[in-house]
Amino acid sequence: MSSSTLSESEAREMKAKLDKDGVDVDTIRDILNLLLEKEVPVQVLVETKIGVTVKGKRNDADKKVAKLASELTSKWKDVVARSRQAGASNESEEKPKKSAEPSNGAEKVKTEEKVKTEEKVAKKPVKPVDGKRLKVRGLFEKAFADWKGESDVDKNELAARIETAMHEHFGGANEQYLNHAKSVKFNLSDPKNPDFRSKVIHGEIDAEDIPKLSSGQMAGKDKIEQKKANKEDKIFQDKMFITAGNLGAESDMFQCRKCKQKRTTFYQKQTRSADEPMTVFITCKNCGHEWRDGG
Ligand SMILES: [Zn+2]
Repeated sequence: MSSSTLSESEAREMKAKLDKDGVDVDTIRDILNLLLEKEVPVQVLVETKIGVTVKGKRNDADKKVAKLASELTSKWKDVVARSRQAGASNESEEKPKKSAEPSNGAEKVKTEEKVKTEEKVAKKPVKPVDGKRLKVRGLFEKAFADWKGESDVDKNELAARIETAMHEHFGGANEQYLNHAKSVKFNLSDPKNPDFRSKVIHGEIDAEDIPKLSSGQMAGKDKIEQKKANKEDKIFQDKMFITAGNLGAESDMFQCRKCKQKRTTFYQKQTRSADEPMTVFITCKNCGHEWRDGG
């Protein structure tokens, strides 16, 4: 690999340094300057997600860092765009094997698995990972970053995998994709639903399956629905008991509001139309209090 081309391992190393907490401004500037001098092949960008990290520095408090990050981001955007165009217009060409030769940059990207996959999804030239997509990845990254649990998972990489799977599933950064992104972000950050984020981080839910999940499934609504159904079942059974001719029977189904005992008798009456629920008149066997229920 020539010294002017950034290797994947170099990129990973730099990304790790940039991602580290409390790294000093001079180091960041040095890394960004170095990156600007280097040719960064698309596959390195795709594999390492260093672009996501650099993009995050565009609003850095240090003006020089912010400027370098912006420059790099637009330079890499072009690299990705060119490679996509090359990939899309050469579809009939035989797919070259992954070469052991040094890469000379953007033109080599046809070898990239990712580009191939995207060719399948969209026959026309595909847009590069644009601002929308990076923003979506950023939302997921933020949701993961807030997580307090233990995990060795590279959460930025996980965020990118989910985003990529969604992009493929919905066939682009379209409206459905954006709506789904909002829903995923919501469920990943919902304090009432910590299960979902934890399952995603621990791989119990595959990143690649997330585009197929409804927001209800992400929210674990299935469980809630089941509980609700069970409750309705119980109410239905109680109603059946009432209507099954147990009139005047003693029951523990009702609790007296006055003496709080559960020894009651009841009878029912159709107070409105026939398809509406019956009104039940209840008498406490303990204190004689009478009341009505339902109807
Ligand atoms: Zn009573």
